[in-house]
Amino acid sequence: MFTGKGDSIETKLSTPEGQLEVVGLMFGEEPTSSHYKTAFFEAFPKEPATFLRGEGNTVEEAEASAWNQLQKHIACPGHEWEKRGYKNGAGFCKHCGLFKSKVFEPDEDCYLCGQKTYHGQTNDGRWYCKKCQYDVPEELLPCYVLDARKYRAECAARGEPLPEYDEDED
Ligand SMILES: [Zn+2]
Ligand SMILES: [Zn+2]
Repeated sequence: MFTGKGDSIETKLSTPEGQLEVVGLMFGEEPTSSHYKTAFFEAFPKEPATFLRGEGNTVEEAEASAWNQLQKHIACPGHEWEKRGYKNGAGFCKHCGLFKSKVFEPDEDCYLCGQKTYHGQTNDGRWYCKKCQYDVPEELLPCYVLDARKYRAECAARGEPLPEYDEDED
């Protein structure tokens, strides 16, 4: 388990030199085969807004690996993005490997208005944008979208706070 040792990534990230607010942190061990376990450490700093994952034989090693990646990102002279197969607008810096969302326009066109989007996909594989989402006929929408809408409507009717999942996200 996380020990909170003085030089943990969490401590480092919240020091004045670190100047990074970590919005999420996960660590632990996961089995990679019946005999081995990999320790992992994941952090979601706010700035740069990215996702770091370090792996190692121990949580400390995994932490150190994530920390070193972060130092590379911070020391990068200037990020230059490449897609590496992502079509949703995310990219990787070709110098330091930083992963970041929304550095490119998404690759898909909304079938209703033609705007670049990665918002949602119909059952028959067409893309639709955030603006057009309520113009897509319900029979074309995946059931999880309809279920989420129904659930949100029920919450609203009961005056409860709406659940996190939100179609308004890009
Ligand atoms: Zn970079
Ligand atoms: Zn649209």
